[in-house]
Amino acid sequence: MKCPICGNEHTGKLSKSRYFCSNCFVEIFLSKKNKLELLKISEDGSTYPIYAN
Ligand SMILES: [Zn+2]
Repeated sequence: MKCPICGNEHTGKLSKSRYFCSNCFVEIFLSKKNKLELLKISEDGSTYPIYAN
């Protein structure tokens, strides 16, 4: 899974449909409809969704 934000091709695989980019601290979900959903993890540990085109 290539990170859609920074282009990092070495994202970590958390589970079958979840990936993590350690470059920009984003979790990448692949939904059932093969739609990408991104979750930004901020420095204090809170998360908020961001949307890729
Ligand atoms: Zn990234």
